[in-house]
Amino acid sequence: MPDAPSSRRALLLGGVGLAAVAGGAAWWWAGRDRPAGLFEFELSDAEWEARLSEAEYAVLRLSATEEPFSSPLNDETRAGSYACAGCGNVVYDAAHKFDSGTGWPSFWQATAGDVVGVRPDPKILGLATEAFCARCGGHLGHVFDDGPEPTGQRHCINGIALDFAAA
Ligand SMILES: [Zn+2]
Repeated sequence: MPDAPSSRRALLLGGVGLAAVAGGAAWWWAGRDRPAGLFEFELSDAEWEARLSEAEYAVLRLSATEEPFSSPLNDETRAGSYACAGCGNVVYDAAHKFDSGTGWPSFWQATAGDVVGVRPDPKILGLATEAFCARCGGHLGHVFDDGPEPTGQRHCINGIALDFAAA
């Protein structure tokens, strides 16, 4: 976790607070840890298991992290859109993708402010910020403060949690 300017951190946490208010204080659970009734698109664990591959399920529903450089989307440079592999919500656009050198597809912003939710990640003691699909609650990856301008953000996303559609 890189050091972050406290002002940016405060802004990020402020955004979480606003989202929590807007969503009924319901943004503090990931994947299947989240109680039902929070998201527009929800399935039972059995339905998710049937819908997703084992690796997709591990990331989207159990917040696992794929091996770096394992996703073909890491090297994808064509114009197009990236949708949540769980529910089809378009969460990132190729126009905002950059090569972070980390081995995971990286974006400096989501397609819109409300399609990707963020919260302190409880699995690592709240020391990093989790990014999740705001439509289905699926775990996507993490957001760091060492990205390029204009946002300074780096959304470090598991490629297996994304479906790419070339423009
Ligand atoms: Zn989703």
